[in-house]
Amino acid sequence: MKRPVRIITSSLMTGVGPLVVAQPLPVSALRNADPFLLLHHAGPQTFDPQVKAHRIEPHPHRGFEPVTFVFKGSVLHRDSLGNEGQIGAGEVQWITSGSGIVHSEGPTPEVQESGGELELIQLWVNLPANKKMITPTYQELHHGDIPRIHALDGALTLDVVAGEYGGVSGPATTHSPLMTAMGHFTKGAVGTIAAPQYEQVLLYVLNGSLRINGEHVVDRHHLAAFDIAGDTIDIETLSDGSLLLLAGEPLREPIAMHGPFVMNTDDELRTAFRDFAGGKMGTLVDNE
Ligand code: MN
Repeated sequence: MKRPVRIITSSLMTGVGPLVVAQPLPVSALRNADPFLLLHHAGPQTFDPQVKAHRIEPHPHRGFEPVTFVFKGSVLHRDSLGNEGQIGAGEVQWITSGSGIVHSEGPTPEVQESGGELELIQLWVNLPANKKMITPTYQELHHGDIPRIHALDGALTLDVVAGEYGGVSGPATTHSPLMTAMGHFTKGAVGTIAAPQYEQVLLYVLNGSLRINGEHVVDRHHLAAFDIAGDTIDIETLSDGSLLLLAGEPLREPIAMHGPFVMNTDDELRTAFRDFAGGKMGTLVDNE
């Protein structure tokens, strides 16, 4: 049985640091994306070597997981745990902020000095209430770690970063059941893929255009959310392009979200701001 599309939504356009950003999540038209909180799609954007692309200065997070998927270019992360990590196209940084982390993020020194293209996704995955204060961790996932599956007679590739899909398991350790995959497709294919077997299934198109289940066209910067039931999704590729496939089990817990913190109550948010001001989330000096 085909898994029906529940809704297709468009993105808000915004800016984060040096990046032009499409924001498909949150938007008012899609009320339930649980356990996914926020999706920012930056670029593709070309930086001129004469104009230094600034990094996002050290800032804290608590209570959720900021995940960066790089589609073009390269980014550098530094954090208060002492991690410093650089990833390129097709690679992923998975931060579990837990009780608190301070990090800086943005283009690598190479992109800053020599210019170049950058395209990335930052996804905020919520943590369950009983895991919001766990010890923070940083996972860096490189090409060799991420299994690739081929669908639509090779016209669609899906790199499975987390969770189970198509008979493979992604390498990321997660704190609730979820699946994420980075996809690339070429024009002119029609076929069927397996629907991820999770209650929440979202498909975001970064570039290009797809027809889903024979009737819904999903263009660049649009997100399709699926109904709960069904095990297949029909896809026709109307152009070359790229996508992000997300699936997970909703946490169904209250969300108190402000700035860089995502907790369950306003009291916990106030504590988060106080703890950060008191240096309890660590410190990071970034001279870039
Ligand atoms: Mn951040």
